[in-house]
Amino acid sequence: AAGSAARAGSRPSIAPVLQGNGATVSLQGVGKVFGDQAVLEDVHLEVSAGSVTVLIGPSGAGKSTLLRLINHLERADQGFVTVGGQLVGYRREGDTLYELPEGEIRRRRADVGMVFQGFNLFPHLTALENIVEAPIAVRGLTRAHAEQQACDLLERIGLADKAHAYPRELSGGQQQRIAIARALALQPKVLLFDEPTSALDPELVAEVLSVIEELARSGTTLVIVTHELGFARRVADHVVMMDQGRVVEQGPPEVVFDRPRQPRTAEFLAKTL
Ligand code: ADP
Ligand code: MG
Repeated sequence: AAGSAARAGSRPSIAPVLQGNGATVSLQGVGKVFGDQAVLEDVHLEVSAGSVTVLIGPSGAGKSTLLRLINHLERADQGFVTVGGQLVGYRREGDTLYELPEGEIRRRRADVGMVFQGFNLFPHLTALENIVEAPIAVRGLTRAHAEQQACDLLERIGLADKAHAYPRELSGGQQQRIAIARALALQPKVLLFDEPTSALDPELVAEVLSVIEELARSGTTLVIVTHELGFARRVADHVVMMDQGRVVEQGPPEVVFDRPRQPRTAEFLAKTL
């Protein structure tokens, strides 16, 4: 951790690459069913633009499904999900909702970045190629512009010397930092993290968390699923405790972590600490 802190100190911050155009996220009475299982039930959540929301809760609580709804990877069966005031997955005409066509969903998804537990870099592309692919394909940047932006991002995550390395040649922490740079290259209005350090060896966790911490309050809206409670306490504006598809309680970190109102939250925190 000392080594990564030293590296973090010697590189320029990642925060300025975001242009501070975070979007609000709203879930109103959201339900999601898989087969006969209610995976989310009556979920309400208001995320203000540029804020940091941390989701905690046991495995199977529905945290990943909630992120997938915000990222247009799933459609709500009940209630409404909006990003930047726009309904996710549907178009409303009068009282009727129509499912959006795939092309329109893909366009809207470009505003919402997602970083997964398993990095999900393209294995056959170098670090640089992983970062430039979407800005060229989705945003229409020229290759020269996209590469210039990617080099700047690589410098800011402390990996300027790894531009031409393939994922298999990099540590998990390096791969995850590149996955974050790849998400940032699209200038997302909302950035989602699904247990971004859960697959990392313990000594690599800090280098990834320090990059995410710089993004907090950089303007973009962050929604983070994590079991790193110390980190959560430092970065969160709002903490949401979920269990069995429901929001157990939510509020500022000093309430949810230090004075939880629900026994289920206290029990979960005691097990996780
Ligand atoms: P968490 O991220 O909190 O562990 P998930 O959102 O991954 O929870 O999953 C919540 C529940 O939904 C789990 O019981 C899981 O098995 C189920 N689930 C998630 N995705 C699917 C799917 N595509 N099909 C069927 N069941 C699913
Ligand atoms: Mg999950």
